[in-house]
Amino acid sequence: MTSRYVNNLGVLTSGGDAPGMNAAVRSVVRTALDRGVKVYAIYEGYQGMVDGGKHIREMDWGSVSNIMNLGGTAIGSARCADFRTREGRVKAAKNLIDHGIDGLAVIGGDGSLTGANLFREEWVSLVDELVETKQVTKKQAGKHPQLAIVGMVGSIDNDMFGTDMTIGADTALHRITDAIDAISSTAASHQRSFIVEVMGRNCGYLALMSALATGADWALIPESPPNVDDWEAKMCEILTAGRKAGRRDSIVIVAEGAQDRYGNPITCDYVQKVLEDRLGEDARVTILGHVQRGGSPSAFDRYLTTLLGYAAVDQILAATPDTEPQLIGMRENRITHSSLMDSVRQTHAVADYIAAKDYDKAMEMRGGSFRENFRTLRTLVRALPHPPDPNQKTLRLAVMHGGGPAPGMNTAARTAIRLGLDKGHTMLGVDDGITGLIHGHIREMNWMSVHGWAPKGGAELGTNRRIPKKSEFYAIARQLEEHRVDGLLMIGGWSGYQSLYQMYNERESFPAFNIPMICLPATINNNLPGSELSIGSDTALNSIVEVVDKIKQSAVASHRCFVIEVMGRNCGYLALMSGLATGAERVYLAEEGVSIGDLQKDLSDLIEGFRRGKRLGLLIRNENSNPLYTTSFMAALFEEEGGDLFDVRTAILGHLQQGGDPTPFDRIQAIRLSRRCIEFLIEESEKDKPASAFMGIRGGKVQFFSMDNLPHMMDEEVERPKEQWWLELRQIARVMAQPAPQRR
Ligand code: ADP
Repeated sequence: MTSRYVNNLGVLTSGGDAPGMNAAVRSVVRTALDRGVKVYAIYEGYQGMVDGGKHIREMDWGSVSNIMNLGGTAIGSARCADFRTREGRVKAAKNLIDHGIDGLAVIGGDGSLTGANLFREEWVSLVDELVETKQVTKKQAGKHPQLAIVGMVGSIDNDMFGTDMTIGADTALHRITDAIDAISSTAASHQRSFIVEVMGRNCGYLALMSALATGADWALIPESPPNVDDWEAKMCEILTAGRKAGRRDSIVIVAEGAQDRYGNPITCDYVQKVLEDRLGEDARVTILGHVQRGGSPSAFDRYLTTLLGYAAVDQILAATPDTEPQLIGMRENRITHSSLMDSVRQTHAVADYIAAKDYDKAMEMRGGSFRENFRTLRTLVRALPHPPDPNQKTLRLAVMHGGGPAPGMNTAARTAIRLGLDKGHTMLGVDDGITGLIHGHIREMNWMSVHGWAPKGGAELGTNRRIPKKSEFYAIARQLEEHRVDGLLMIGGWSGYQSLYQMYNERESFPAFNIPMICLPATINNNLPGSELSIGSDTALNSIVEVVDKIKQSAVASHRCFVIEVMGRNCGYLALMSGLATGAERVYLAEEGVSIGDLQKDLSDLIEGFRRGKRLGLLIRNENSNPLYTTSFMAALFEEEGGDLFDVRTAILGHLQQGGDPTPFDRIQAIRLSRRCIEFLIEESEKDKPASAFMGIRGGKVQFFSMDNLPHMMDEEVERPKEQWWLELRQIARVMAQPAPQRR
């Protein structure tokens, strides 16, 4: 780091605020301090940079404590006309040089990032002007030959190229799905239609994803207007069919920038009028507005931004005067950097295509998974399946669960059943997991049997951890034969995987097992091979974060340390990620275990911290981190040895982690994976030797693994995957948790 040209860092939030900005600021500040760099927060965005003075403040470790859970931005944001003028930017440059700042981390939308880029392009001439006008000395100027810029995108719309997710988009989806779930229940009570407007002027991300996640009836997005002239008739037809099939509510979601093929805006009021005129429906409009922007950030928006901030500082410190401004983003579940201005240009290109009514190009630029989700939505919104193709063989595909309950299981089952029916197949539901399979609790599902399942927590089909004994295979084979099952989808956790794996291995003895079988990862523990994330883990993480926020608030009596136990079995994912998202100072993982030496060190850190004035301690423990040093043992040890300095409380979070309605992310992933599983079963069932597989998301892509790989990819003794991508985040958690001198 000695060769770096950047002196001090500045961090600012600019443009529209977005939940998660605070975690990004916190991360930039703590990483910079860790790297031995002075860091300033520039309050009120570019306005603060132009005005200087009290707006530019040096930050220390404690200045960013307790902000991560807050919505908005704690250091303020503003639109700034002055910064659009050269005069304003000269003032800003002077203020930065006065503080020795020549590295800037800018968190904002495309406007803010464009401004940052321009500022850097002009830097040399701005500094020259300051020297000429004797506002800075030549020596001062010489120390700051260039300005290094990194950008992070704060925007709830998820409308930026160069990152799969922008800061705030996940939280906004939480707000929207909560609101639509609530609206659906009142709409259903009165058999009403609701039209809901969500944000997104040029980007239909929020509208599309919330429609998928809530099981809405129709969605209008800017990138892909309805492709028929009388789309109003088509919409009414689908809504009417839905009512006839038994739906009690209709929900239409309209993106702010929705338009028809000719570029005419489609407003909520217009949709309302259509429904009233054509259907004689009592339709209500809800414009969600700024609610979508507000509130405490989701778990994802806390840990994503923490990772972004960390990467941003290292990126800026590695910059040379020639390094182009970089955008730090997330692609395929990894932190990446790319040219900031390329990303801004591409972002504008999508808007330009929409304006030019070139919708194919606009959709193309949104990427494959956006298009795939849009196609899925168009099938799922239908009230009835497409008529079957008479030449096609009708398969009988069964859907079941195994393992502990995972929020999102219902969403996945609903998708599989509807998409299977839509392709002309008979869909069967197995009740109560393996127990139901043994006893033949298998029923035919129709389109409306899964109505209302998209947002529902729990598992309507029932689930348990039973794995069949050898003696039970015969009964299972009989049931599969009797119900003429052609393919089996297991949506579940490790016991579900093991059950199918064993059946797969018994194909020789039981020909009924010679059908395609597929496992879709659904467990809150995120301990399955072949998938970086399993359905349910995001919901569990959010439940943990919500409770920990409350526990922290309860600690108004200061000098208290909490030992919080979270689930995960032998996998520390929930412990580490909730630690990152709540600002825990220590996490105990099953992967690392806990030794007496660890506890002694942690105890002395606690004592030292509380002596220096710390008010609250937060330790998160994975349930299996050590069988003997239990949560209560640790609490008793710390309590006894801490004496009068602090007291200790425990919170074992228990089953609330498996409950709750699935988060939008879990719903969307469930839909995406489930669709692919059904396609797999249909494809394989045509083959003489059908494959069986487990699947999931790796590097942001859906991947399949032959069942034969299961033992190779899993550490069976500890029941967790051999490869766990998230373990590398431990270093970042450590940097965030404690200042360097105290760190182990
Ligand atoms: P967002 O960053 O959310 O897109 P804006 O477009 O309002 O929000 O930009 C925020 C601020 O960034 C503006 O108020 C202005 O100070 C600065 N800015 C935006 N565009 C430019 C530009 N082309 N040149 C200089 N500054 C700009």
